[in-house]
Amino acid sequence: MKSSASLIRPLVRRLHAYVPGEQPQIPGLIKLNTNENPYPPSPRVRQAIRRAVDGRLRLYPNPTAQPLREALARLHGCAPENIVIGNGSDELLALATRAYVEPAAAVPQGSGRAVVQFFNPSYSLYPVLAEIHGAVNHPVPLRPDFGLPALADLKRGKLWRFDAALTYITTPNAPTGRGYALAELEALCQAQRGVVVLDEAYVDFAPENALALALRYPNVIVSRTFSKAYSLCFQRVGYFVGPPALMAALDKIRDSYNVNGLGQIAALATLEDLDYYRRNFQKIIATRQWLSEALRRLGFDVLPSHTNFIFARPPRFPARAWLEKLRASKILVRWWNYPEVRDYLRITIGTRAEAQALLHAAQRILTEA
Ligand SMILES: *Cc1c(COP(=O)(O)O)cnc(C)c1O
Repeated sequence: MKSSASLIRPLVRRLHAYVPGEQPQIPGLIKLNTNENPYPPSPRVRQAIRRAVDGRLRLYPNPTAQPLREALARLHGCAPENIVIGNGSDELLALATRAYVEPAAAVPQGSGRAVVQFFNPSYSLYPVLAEIHGAVNHPVPLRPDFGLPALADLKRGKLWRFDAALTYITTPNAPTGRGYALAELEALCQAQRGVVVLDEAYVDFAPENALALALRYPNVIVSRTFSKAYSLCFQRVGYFVGPPALMAALDKIRDSYNVNGLGQIAALATLEDLDYYRRNFQKIIATRQWLSEALRRLGFDVLPSHTNFIFARPPRFPARAWLEKLRASKILVRWWNYPEVRDYLRITIGTRAEAQALLHAAQRILTEA
């Protein structure tokens, strides 16, 4: 009799799975660890979902989420063929890996066709997706201030691969919160021979976006999600905007009914109430400014942020100790034990009351020390 483990592909046995932020059920917990929006979806969205909970739950949803695709096309001034909807943008990132990148075993060693490239630090899902696919991970360090290396430096250095089959750029970046200039991104996209996915999960909190690049270049895709800015993590809806041929390739390999029906309805209703969300963006940006300045006065080194979170190096104790101390005060933030980022905490911007609670806890921690 074989052991069950021996029945699993070695690649999967070896795999280090992605670790999502915790979702603990602790009463009174202030949850600032997964960049969820502190404000609920608009009343119209909640009503649209409630109204849809009826006999139609027995039916399959629209297989291409067509009404949502068309509404997004109108919003972004493009064709529905420029858009593909996913079960969260994470699903589309996985599909991109499978559609544009060869497993290493399928191509000669060293070929760019098997390379998935990304900056370090950025979204820690990318290397997991590459590993699952048997592709070659190619992390490239950001500058010490977490800025993008200049194109001239990438060209001069030996590390960056202009032949990578797929390059993921989180912009604005996570977990650093830094925004990158459109001109820099454009120059990089132009120089790149493979596909570039600009992951704009947080772009609604930033002063500019790169959507135009996805509608101008044959190798550029912009990734967006309803999760963070549109308070819809629970429903799992994200989308790509890009050249029709690249979108059609994803469409071919996705599950036929990848986007659940209530998610489609919720996302469509969201687009009909954008002013509600824009007011929330302004509130979150104002709280971000307020909290950043207040923490700086306590001695935190807070990086400028274009997102709904801040990345801050705390004073006095190691970041890991702060994580524990804040947790003891029922405040959950995020910390990673990787060399480039282990001195920092990532703190989601919640409501003003939550930001105040965080600040009071930090003041208490510092005075008790
Ligand atoms: C949250 C996040 C996503 C995933 O969003 P979903 O649409 O919920 O899957 C993608 N990229 C980055 C950088 C994120 O932070």
